[in-house]
Amino acid sequence: MTAFAYRIDATDEDARAGVLHTAHGDVPTPAFMPVGTTGTVKAMTADAVRATGASIVLGNTYHLMLRPGAERVARLGGLHRFMDWPGPILTDSGGFQVMSLAKLRKLDADGVTFQSHLDGSTHRLTPEHSVEIQRLLDATITMVLDECTPFPASPEEARTSMQLSMRWAQRSREAFQTREGYGLFGIVQGSVYPELREESARALIRIGFDGYAVGGLAIGEGQATTFAVLDATVPNLPLDKPRYLMGVGTPDDLIGAVQRGIDMFDCVIPTRGGRTARAYTSRGVFNLRNARFADDPAPLDASCRCPACVRHSRAYLHHLFKAEEMLGPMLLTWHNVQYYQELMRGLRAAITERQLEAFAAATRAGWLRDDDE
Ligand SMILES: [Zn+2]
Repeated sequence: MTAFAYRIDATDEDARAGVLHTAHGDVPTPAFMPVGTTGTVKAMTADAVRATGASIVLGNTYHLMLRPGAERVARLGGLHRFMDWPGPILTDSGGFQVMSLAKLRKLDADGVTFQSHLDGSTHRLTPEHSVEIQRLLDATITMVLDECTPFPASPEEARTSMQLSMRWAQRSREAFQTREGYGLFGIVQGSVYPELREESARALIRIGFDGYAVGGLAIGEGQATTFAVLDATVPNLPLDKPRYLMGVGTPDDLIGAVQRGIDMFDCVIPTRGGRTARAYTSRGVFNLRNARFADDPAPLDASCRCPACVRHSRAYLHHLFKAEEMLGPMLLTWHNVQYYQELMRGLRAAITERQLEAFAAATRAGWLRDDDE
């Protein structure tokens, strides 16, 4: 069996390129995890996800506990087998979606009680229960249950919320069954307040985790604030453990966060964008519903090797979305996920060659070009 371990191969300023070894395979970092909400990366087969170069996907505990249920997934051989993804899977704790999706949620010191957004049935999530659900799903990486502090929050609200999350982090650690090649990540909270972020990081390090996530961002604070929080948080995290920025972001966010020492990301932007005609390319962001693509025979992104770009024109993709054909979201999701993976490959290579700043500048300059070449 493989021990759960992170190896750094190269650094460029604060950025790191490395490999996370897990029971289900290696994850080259920096890594972007496509979001497989309910046991599927929406509109993609598992083979298609693999073909983009993704090495790890994310599953959502909240969705899977309600439907089809964690016990059922366990009986059917675990989430890897259930969704045909033998590679590493990270599951979130369910807490974020309880707060954003569930009805009539009630938070107390011990956990959160909520009603399913599907059928109104009542459920309860505690730190121990969340860890148990993630074990039943067979998550390679388990996340601690935390409270995602709303934004904005006063310093007092942020402190109270962060301290609750730190108590839950301790309970999650105690509930987690150590298994070879499996890991548990803590989550730094503290809103936009540097001293709270530092206090939260110190509290988590005292407990001891296999990786450290930065949570409570990308909820409306804006990129400058996200980066300021990273500047205040990342230097307080251990050098030898993976760092995961939750729920971020745009390609530009990813570059800036990698430059600040982040190793792992997840976000619905490429997959949600793929279903809504929003294309992320080396020439910037396009809305494929735009009439200017109706007669455009060029590939979506000439530098991309995905099926949407190699085999089809912008005009065809435009037509699929106008006609509301399923193939439109399928092709564009594949493209967007592949673009994100290509970006991560480029970042890894640039860090290895100590050319990250030049790579970032060239990539950003490309987004501003609109010459259709
Ligand atoms: Zn493509």
